[in-house]
Amino acid sequence: MNLDFFKLPYSNNSLEPTISSETISFHYEKHHKAYYDNLVRLLGESSIEEESLEDIILKAHKDESLRLLYNNASQVFNHDFFWESLSPEKIEPSDYLVSLIEDNFSSWDKFLDELKSKALNHFASGWVWLVLDSNGGLKIITTSNADSPIILGFKPLLTIDVWEHSYYIDYRNARALYLDSVIGSLINWNFVESNIKRHI
Ligand code: FE
Repeated sequence: MNLDFFKLPYSNNSLEPTISSETISFHYEKHHKAYYDNLVRLLGESSIEEESLEDIILKAHKDESLRLLYNNASQVFNHDFFWESLSPEKIEPSDYLVSLIEDNFSSWDKFLDELKSKALNHFASGWVWLVLDSNGGLKIITTSNADSPIILGFKPLLTIDVWEHSYYIDYRNARALYLDSVIGSLINWNFVESNIKRHI
């Protein structure tokens, strides 16, 4: 099982000015790394081994005594997925993706509005996600704390971290400005499309 710490696919300063190098140094090198280190330690103390990260999350979620392992495993998954959801280069969605989004949300702009408003109004530390449901439909959900769509039976396609540690250095309490900038310039729509094509 590959449980190496996620390698950021771009340099710390390459998401500037939307996300500063200082934020990456705390968010990726400290917060994300701490979840990873905790996961490795807790896995070593448990009887769970040789399983994928997703299997660990699903198994640990069912067992209250493994709550700390679950939280750290899920936070590792969520952060890996978040960094992959971003790109330093501006990536435009393909006609295929735009058409699929229009089928599910009536228009591209309505989709972006719903993504932003659900992220903005999520009343806790957590995550906003674009997911695929079991009927092949796309929907936007939020999860609190360490939870991810995996435990709800959805396939994750895109996520944005809305824990305060993701924006407080750069935007203080202005979560809306962080979301405007991330959604407007950093989303890796190619990653979203590749996730969709992997599942349908
Ligand atoms: Fe985070």
